[in-house]
Amino acid sequence: MPIYKAPLRDMHFALWETAGAGILGALPGMEEVGAELAAPVLEGAAAFCEEVLLPLNRTGDEEGCLLENGAVRTPSGFTEAYRAYREGGWPALACDTAFGGQGLPKIVSVMFEEMICSANLAFGMYPGLSHGAYSALRAHGSEAQKALYLPKLVDGTWAGTMCLTEPHCGTDLGLLRTRAEPASDGRYRITGTKIFISAGEHDLTENIVHLVLARLPDAPRGSRGISLFLVPKCIPDAQGNPGARNAVVAGALEHKMGIKASATCVMNFDGAIGWLVGAPNKGLAAMFTMMNEARLSVGIQGLGLAEISYQNAVAYARERLQGRRPGGAAAPEKPADPIIAHPDVRRMLLTMRAWIQGCRMLAARTALAIDIAAHDPVPARAQAAEDEVALMTPIVKALFSDMGWEMTALGMQVLGGHGYIREWGMEQFVRDARIAQIYEGTNGVQALDLVGRKMPAHGGRALRRFFHPVSEWIAARAGRAEMAEFVEPLAKAFGRLQGITAELARRGLADPFEAGAGASEYLRLFGLVALAREWARAAEIALGRQEDAFYRAKLGTARFFIRNILPQHTGLAASVLAGGAALRAFADTDF
Ligand SMILES: Cc1cc2nc3c(=O)[nH]c(=O)nc-3n(C[C@H](O)[C@H](O)[C@H](O)COP(=O)(O)OP(=O)(O)OC[C@H]3O[C@@H](n4cnc5c(N)ncnc54)[C@H](O)[C@@H]3O)c2cc1C
Repeated sequence: MPIYKAPLRDMHFALWETAGAGILGALPGMEEVGAELAAPVLEGAAAFCEEVLLPLNRTGDEEGCLLENGAVRTPSGFTEAYRAYREGGWPALACDTAFGGQGLPKIVSVMFEEMICSANLAFGMYPGLSHGAYSALRAHGSEAQKALYLPKLVDGTWAGTMCLTEPHCGTDLGLLRTRAEPASDGRYRITGTKIFISAGEHDLTENIVHLVLARLPDAPRGSRGISLFLVPKCIPDAQGNPGARNAVVAGALEHKMGIKASATCVMNFDGAIGWLVGAPNKGLAAMFTMMNEARLSVGIQGLGLAEISYQNAVAYARERLQGRRPGGAAAPEKPADPIIAHPDVRRMLLTMRAWIQGCRMLAARTALAIDIAAHDPVPARAQAAEDEVALMTPIVKALFSDMGWEMTALGMQVLGGHGYIREWGMEQFVRDARIAQIYEGTNGVQALDLVGRKMPAHGGRALRRFFHPVSEWIAARAGRAEMAEFVEPLAKAFGRLQGITAELARRGLADPFEAGAGASEYLRLFGLVALAREWARAAEIALGRQEDAFYRAKLGTARFFIRNILPQHTGLAASVLAGGAALRAFADTDF
C-alpha cells in the first residue's frame, strides 16, 4: 500500500513563514488564530487522513460504487469513515459559528483539504460538494432556508450537490433546459436530466440537498435566464427531519477513469419539489459563489495527489538498485546504486518537489487572502484581498491541476514499469488526478477567465494587486548579493510577464481570438512567475540556516526551481507572442 505522511512541517512553513498568516490574528474574530491553534488541528487532521482515509483509497478504487434500485452503495468502509469524519467535527471546521461551525479560517481548512486529497480524493468529493452547497446557501439562501439546511450541512448529517451539467451543455450553461414550474404554494416543480453529478446519490447521509440550475417558464434565453433551486432528496418534515421522498432519483452511475469511489450520477428530476434560492434568473451568479470556492478546492486536489505520488516515488528511489551513477558509484558496496543517485531520477524528484512545495506556498497565500477578504474591517484592504483571490482563482485551479497530472505521471515514471502496474498504487494517482483538469470549468476555460475577465476587470485592478507587491519586493532586495541568484531571474521573468500582459491585452482588445489563442500559455507563464516569487521568498527565509536540514532542503529546492524550471518562461512567452494566426488559418476540413 502506498505510504503517506502529511507534510505538516512544510505546511507550517507555507502558512506562517512565507504567506505570513500571523497577520490574521490582528483581525476581528480571528484573534485566537495562530500557529499554536492550527498545529493541533492539523495534527488531528493528519492522523485522520493517514489512519482512516488512506487505507480505503485502494479498496475504494477497486470496488467502486454500486447502483441498485436508485440507491448507491459506496465502497466498503466509506460509511464508517464518513461517520468518523462527522463525529470528529471535521465538516464544521471552516463553517460559520452561527450555524454550528467552528469558524476556523481558510488557511487551516485548505491544508486539511490537501491531506484529504492525498489520502483519498474520492472520499473527499462527498464533503467537498457539501461544503460548496453550504457556501452557496449561506450567501444566497433565505433566512428560513439557512435555518433549516445549514446546521445539517455543517454537522454533516446531510450532504449537498451541485447540479449544473446536462447532456448537451457543460461549459455553456446558457443552453440548459431543466424546467422549473411555479406551483400554487410558492414552491416549484423541477423537471429535467442532469449528468455527471458528483455525490448525486449515496449512503453516507440521511438526506442530500441538491442545488439545481433550471429555467423558469418566462425566463430570458441564455445564461440570463437561469435560476437556482434547492431540491432535497427527502423533503424535511415540520420538525426538520427527512420526510417524504422527493421525485429525484439517480438513473445511472458513470463509469470513469478515476475517483471511482466517488458516485458520479445521472440525476433525473421528474417534477421534484424545489425552492428558489436567491432572485429569479440570477442563478448562475449565485452558483458562482460555490464554483469559485470549488475551483480553489479542485486546484488543491492536484496538489494533494502530487504530494502522495512524490512521497512514494522518493521512498522507491531510495530502495531500488539499478546501474551506476555517471562519474562514480554512489554505493560501491552494493551490487548497483539506488536510482536516487541518477541525475535523471533526481531531476524528476526535484521537479516534483519544486512544483508541489511552490504550489503549497501559493495555496497558503491565496487562502490567507480569502480570510482577509472575509474579516478585514478596512474596506480597501478587504477589497484588495478579494481582487487577489479573483485573480488567483483560475490560476490555482488550472496550474495546480495541470501540475497534479504532470507530477503524478512523473512519480509513476520514477518507479519505471512498477509504476504502471496497479500493485504499487502510483497509476491510481495519475487516473485520479486527470479529472481535476476538466471539471469545475475546464482548464482552457480558466485561462479564458484569466485573460478575458480578470485581466481587464476594473481597468486591470486585480493585476495590479499582484504586480505592485512583486515589483516592490524585488526593488527592496536590489543590491543584496546573497539574494541575487534568486531575485535577478525573478525580475527577468516578472518583467517578461508584464510585457506579455500588456501585449496580450492590446491584441485581445483588437481581436478576442488572439487573446483566446494565447490564454493557456499565458496562464502557465503567470503561474510560473507567481511560484518564482514564492521560491525567492522561501530562499530568503532559508538563507543562513543551513545547519537545519529543513531549510537546507528548502534552499536547494529554491535553487532548482529558479535555475532549472523558471527558464520555461522564455518558451511560454514566445508561444503567447506567436499569436493565433496559424490557428485561424488552418481549415476545419484539414483536421
Ligand atoms: C467525474 C466528473 C464529475 C463531475 N461532477 C460534476 C458535478 O458535480 N456537477 C456538475 O454540474 N457537473 C459535474 N461534472 C461536469 C463537468 O463540470 C463538465 O464535464 C465540464 O464543465 C466540461 O463540460 P463538458 O464535459 O460538457 O465539455 P464541453 O463544454 O463540451 O467542452 C469540450 C471541450 O471544449 C472546450 N470548450 C468548450 N467551450 C469552450 C469555449 N467557449 N472556449 C474554448 N474552449 C471551449 C472545453 O475546454 C473542452 O476542452 C463532472 C464531470 C465529471 C467527468
